[in-house]
Amino acid sequence: MPSIASRSQSLTNSQINLESNPDLPAYTVRVSDRAKCVRLALSVENGLEVVVPANYDHLKIPEIIHQKRNWINRNQHKLNEREAFFQSQAPHELPDQLKLRSLGEEWQIVYQQTVTRFGSITIKENRDQRQLVISGDITNVASCKALIKQWLMKTAEKQLFSWLRRLSLQTNLPYRTTAIRGQKTLWGSCSSDRNISLNYKLLFLEAQVVEYVLIHELCHTVHMNHSAKFWKLVSKFEPNYKTIDKSLNQAWQIIPAWLSL
Ligand SMILES: [Zn+2]
Repeated sequence: MPSIASRSQSLTNSQINLESNPDLPAYTVRVSDRAKCVRLALSVENGLEVVVPANYDHLKIPEIIHQKRNWINRNQHKLNEREAFFQSQAPHELPDQLKLRSLGEEWQIVYQQTVTRFGSITIKENRDQRQLVISGDITNVASCKALIKQWLMKTAEKQLFSWLRRLSLQTNLPYRTTAIRGQKTLWGSCSSDRNISLNYKLLFLEAQVVEYVLIHELCHTVHMNHSAKFWKLVSKFEPNYKTIDKSLNQAWQIIPAWLSL
């Protein structure tokens, strides 16, 4: 039985028997106005709880625990087994959230192990709750990752393309086509044909930084180099470009590591 001393501190009307009776398993006492008789409850979250009615004589509790020892041991064993199973099923390497700083959005990812005919996995977007639900054979970590990556690419397509369009109109710097990529060392690029490609990992960066990258690529539609003229054009739309450009060198550190593996 794990020590639950620290957890029980937050409970009102609770006590721990650790000092008074080391032979019994650790437990907390919860006084419930609705309880009509003494009840034992065992859970991963709360450990062993003794729920007693108001005005119950707490001195009787150790004896009850003693009598119920077999029940406690049996159920504790079941609980441990179930917990071990969940731990082995849990996709440890997978993220449980995505912090898309550029959009000011934080998405939670929920994994549901379900039986499917061909071991397929699906991803469902719940925009209202900012939640992604991945269900199917979630023990297939690679497939789960691929699905999340796909979702990120699609989100980048929607969000970054419209962002680029808006900036293009504002700056009066037209481009031809756009593409989303996932390069390791490139945030964006612009070809001599004025085709701009953007890295979906930009979603994880601050909005101001993303805005700068988009402006940077739009300015390449005029100057295909990093000449003084190019930087002069950039500064017209982002006077603080030097500081932001420097910050891009460290920006890779906030990209989730699992995406690069
Ligand atoms: Zn450049």
